[in-house]
Amino acid sequence: MQEPIFEQYIFPNDTISACYLNTSIGAPCEQGSISVVGVDARTVEDVQAAVTFAASHNLRLVVKSTGHDFFGRSTARGSFLVWMHNFKNITFHNSFRALGAPITEIYENAITLGAGVEWQEAHDAVNTRGRVLVGGVSIASSVGAAGGWLLGGGHSPLSPHYGLGVDNVLEFDMVTSAGVYLTANAYQDPDLFWALRGGGGGTYGIVTSVTYRTHPSLPLIGAFFTASVNSVQPTPALQALFAEYVRITANLSDVGWSGRASVFTDVATGSLVMSLTYTNLNASWAQANASIEPFFTFAQNLASSTNNSDSLIVRSAFTAPFDSFFSWYTQIAAGIPPVSGVSGSLGSWLLPRDVIANDYKAVAKTLISFIPAELSYSQIAGGAVSHVDPDSTGLNPAWRKALVHAIFSTGWPEGTPAAVIHEVEASMKQNMTNLRALAPESGAYFNEASLFEPNPAYAFFGDHYDRLKSIKKHYDPLDMFVVTEGVGSDDWDAQLVCRR
Ligand SMILES: Cc1cc2nc3c(=O)[nH]c(=O)nc-3n(C[C@H](O)[C@H](O)[C@H](O)COP(=O)(O)OP(=O)(O)OC[C@H]3O[C@@H](n4cnc5c(N)ncnc54)[C@H](O)[C@@H]3O)c2cc1C
Repeated sequence: MQEPIFEQYIFPNDTISACYLNTSIGAPCEQGSISVVGVDARTVEDVQAAVTFAASHNLRLVVKSTGHDFFGRSTARGSFLVWMHNFKNITFHNSFRALGAPITEIYENAITLGAGVEWQEAHDAVNTRGRVLVGGVSIASSVGAAGGWLLGGGHSPLSPHYGLGVDNVLEFDMVTSAGVYLTANAYQDPDLFWALRGGGGGTYGIVTSVTYRTHPSLPLIGAFFTASVNSVQPTPALQALFAEYVRITANLSDVGWSGRASVFTDVATGSLVMSLTYTNLNASWAQANASIEPFFTFAQNLASSTNNSDSLIVRSAFTAPFDSFFSWYTQIAAGIPPVSGVSGSLGSWLLPRDVIANDYKAVAKTLISFIPAELSYSQIAGGAVSHVDPDSTGLNPAWRKALVHAIFSTGWPEGTPAAVIHEVEASMKQNMTNLRALAPESGAYFNEASLFEPNPAYAFFGDHYDRLKSIKKHYDPLDMFVVTEGVGSDDWDAQLVCRR
């Protein structure tokens, strides 16, 4: 079976091998699924030596940058780890020409990031040059900027303006399973370049560095909204509020807004909370207010009209100007300590614009029905993401029709028995069935999705799967790089240890 909490390992008889952070549980500290031996790689030669060693000893190899992968693809029971965390080089290029490109094809202000650079380090670095990168934003922004985030697609609040991570990369340097160090771009190994842009982390080789284009730093307007109901159940007022928000998503996108809504239970108060974190790049404050304030007014009217048992309370509803993406990001995400040791599971689906526009009520009703799971309705597609030719990168073509990446997630405390975890999984699977039914032709984001996709090849790669697999066979004939539900994993058992 597949394991939803990747550091721990559940045996077929439901006993668990793990090492819990919460020592009061009293369970012995065991290895679980943490790699048993590994290389803290510092140079390309280290990576080449590690790959050659793994090949000659037929080891189960895993590659880790930060270990953030929700599927635990950067660890495996009994595996040999190549840890890329210390590839921290950052190089600016006033003008960059990809290897083999015509001398006229120059990108100004490009940046090369080592495979261990995290998003906060990349955002800090590029800000000193008055530029921005299309990059991940999260608490502490500790996701890798040149590892799994990019190789799986890479979304950002800036994506509706500048595309996904894969639409902004100019070149990869990597080591293949034969130990060969190569450069892949539009002119060198273009098939591999195509596959690396969305074909998934840990699948084609070990990336040592990535070169991105950057964009000018522009001012933006941020919108912040929080409302709550005094209930753990979604009251009619909260349902109405969420439905109204889903109804206007496409309009918000058309006038330059992007961002995320969350619906979650505040454990301290027992209230169900809906919050919005939105940005509108390079818009005037007046323009931005004109498009978001009707939603704030809708919420205020709903709050005034609800009675005590159904009270909706608007906690905050305002916009604010920021002089750059960086200053917005530092206020909302930087400096907050990262959380670790969280156990949980998630599911997601890419919702096409026409599905939302044609039946917003069905979308809202389906998502709200997943509560008490936490909802994240990320409007980070559409715009520039949908203007890219779907076949120009290996990425799941479903991204190009999508407007929203809808996620739900559930957590549980450490030490939870396997039987209880299985019950949670069963409910997650049912939610996924309902979510998929909204847009069966669409797909899911490889990096943030359900561990239980019935057809992962289609869900994560759509009709690009066969080409991705044949490119993988060419560059990784040993099948050294195989990850859960990744390209080529269908040839292996669930533990990715024995060929089918
Ligand atoms: C707190 C948090 C916030 C997030 N925010 C965003 C977001 O804003 N946007 C978004 O798109 N996603 C986001 N994600 C999801 C994120 O994209 C995935 O978790 C992704 O897998 C992280 O990549 P990583 O390299 O940091 O993690 P890792 O776990 O180290 O690696 C992930 C996968 O990539 C492979 N890999 C890593 N490094 C390399 C390498 N050098 N060469 C080849 N393969 C490699 C690994 O083998 C593994 O398969 C977030 C995740 C978390 C936990």
